Amino acid sequence: MTLPKTTAELRALDAAHHLHPFSDTKALNAEGSRVIVKADGVWLTDSDGNRYLDGMSGLWCVNVGYGREEIADAVSKQLRELPYYNTFFKTTHTPAIELAAKLAELTPPQFNRVFFTGSGSESNDTVIRLVRRYWDIKEKPEKKVIISRRNAYHGSTVGAANLGGMAPMHAQNVAIPGVVHIAQPYWWGEARQGETPDEFGLRTAQALEATIDALGEDRIAAFIAEPIQGAGGVIVPPATYWPEIARICRERDILFVSDEVICGFGRTGKWFGCETFGTHPDLLVMAKGITSGYMPLGGVMVADRVVDVLLEGGDFNHGYTYSGHPAACAAALANLAIMQREKLVERVADDIGPYLKARWSTLAEHPLVGEAPMLGMVGALELTPDKAGRRKFPEVGKVGTLARDFSFKNGLVMRAVRDRLIIAPPLVLSHGEADELVARARKTLDDSWTELK
Ligand code: PLP
Repeated sequence: MTLPKTTAELRALDAAHHLHPFSDTKALNAEGSRVIVKADGVWLTDSDGNRYLDGMSGLWCVNVGYGREEIADAVSKQLRELPYYNTFFKTTHTPAIELAAKLAELTPPQFNRVFFTGSGSESNDTVIRLVRRYWDIKEKPEKKVIISRRNAYHGSTVGAANLGGMAPMHAQNVAIPGVVHIAQPYWWGEARQGETPDEFGLRTAQALEATIDALGEDRIAAFIAEPIQGAGGVIVPPATYWPEIARICRERDILFVSDEVICGFGRTGKWFGCETFGTHPDLLVMAKGITSGYMPLGGVMVADRVVDVLLEGGDFNHGYTYSGHPAACAAALANLAIMQREKLVERVADDIGPYLKARWSTLAEHPLVGEAPMLGMVGALELTPDKAGRRKFPEVGKVGTLARDFSFKNGLVMRAVRDRLIIAPPLVLSHGEADELVARARKTLDDSWTELK
């Protein structure tokens, strides 16, 4: 079959054969999808030649930017040498060996082993099995419950979707028993009248302790959380939140899982979000930035104290055909080499992170914006009809979608979560591109404001 060339033909073919993730495919087909044909640096080009500044790094993953020949070459070389072999049944291969050792070097000191997967969702399903296996081996099989948070996103497989706290997903899902959701640290949207961010952060963290007590510590296997909730709306927690959670996890006999699928690999200005917030996880979930999205790969780092128990248990009956796929591992190694050589994590902490934040924060003065948080290379704009009263729009999501569509028209990819616009640009964004990003975001706010008047 020869591929049609025009945008209209491509759209028709897509509409006929493609069911899109997280989309109303019927509505999308009526409108026609945007066909992205190439990308370079932080810029995307569609089939009509329009260019967009990718404020979302694809889906929070293209940390080193597009067009890195070095990663393409590494993958191509690996595909020629050993395109596939598995890591089951007493076999391994050099890319998996090298990457596992590299990850042990980059992650906090308690981590020396990784379980490879193909995605963040598979990693979180692995977490469910690992933590339950851990407590079984420790002869505490009643410890099964995993505590998570409302609006968390941990993936789309049945297990991961249940760990997540997204109501629209739960409404379409097969519930698995043993997952309990507590409040998210979303001060702007959920604090009581007069409650300071610090008071709110502490109260929200203490919901973990209260839930452990209410359900019984002998039933709780683990607590899972993203350092900054990403898909839930880039919820940067108040300063009091993580220290209190860390205290609770230290004092209670539960495992703590840090889902670093978004926050890992430099996004918060350290290699991992747990380092930014001073927490000490037992399991660390990774995907996305590990390869900058060039190849699908995920993994779960397992702390030594958990590994010691698992190794006593013999076979772990779990694994994926593509666990540690050689070409994906080669992509990750090349990607991490770029990150280290170009000091991208340091750049987020000391250069582009603070530069972008200073400019992004000025958007908080816009009449449509309630708050404009940013940490590292991840930020949000809460849209509100009433700044002072912290009120929400009556029809949740309508203004967010309107603004998101203006953003595309203005050549900037932002995402809307309810009425919150979010960004997570590539870590290689230049100062000039940061200025451009903020100018386009400001125009988007102005266009939306005019439309709403
Ligand atoms: N965990 C977090 C925090 C995520 O943001 C995502 C995806 O956005 C996932 C897990 C799922 O990852 P994947 O889409 O690779 O399955």
